[in-house]
Amino acid sequence: MNRQKTAKALVKFLKEKYGKGIRNLPSDNKGVFKTLIATILSQRTRDENTHSAASALFSKVDSPKKILKLSNREIERLIRPSGMFRQKAKRIKAVCKILLKKYGGNVPITREELMELPGVGFKTADVVLMYGHGIPSIAVDTHTNRIPKRIGMVDQKANVEDVKESLESLIPRKDWYIVNMGFVQFGREICQPIRPKCEICPMSKYCDYYLKKY
Ligand code: SF4
Repeated sequence: MNRQKTAKALVKFLKEKYGKGIRNLPSDNKGVFKTLIATILSQRTRDENTHSAASALFSKVDSPKKILKLSNREIERLIRPSGMFRQKAKRIKAVCKILLKKYGGNVPITREELMELPGVGFKTADVVLMYGHGIPSIAVDTHTNRIPKRIGMVDQKANVEDVKESLESLIPRKDWYIVNMGFVQFGREICQPIRPKCEICPMSKYCDYYLKKY
């Protein structure tokens, strides 16, 4: 299957099905900061836990300066639903200290600088760039890694950086915003890790997994 053609069909599908609630506009400084902290909270937990923890924390504090005024114990109490709360509280404080000391309380705008922050890996950095700063960047999580391999748009043995590179070369930059969040929803609803719902999937005619199996 032609990868360009498949990528075009995929973007069209993701936009039509999931595009409404997904934004690609940059946030203000507070919005970017919240995106960063919420993405740290989201590590190794479910969305609903992230939302509870983030809402509890942001109802009290919404800037690095204010977070640093809280004790570790208070932060732990607020973010407890996100799991690994002691480790995350320490990381959040360490991140806030660096933001204040090095970036005047703002969130840095390069992938390299973001990845120097404690607890920020490539995926968190890309999420903050794309959905915080509004700077196009494809974040590769478990769904974004699995789905394009199944479809056959990306080599089976590609590592996450290769997946990112392949997707960014196949999909026009203006559409990168739909990829991560679109794949997350697609991966939960249809192209699930175990027993994907191929029979109802609009991408089946382009999909290597489906065409080999059926
Ligand atoms: Fe996933 Fe099946 Fe759709 Fe292929 S056809 S993208 S494997 S749900």
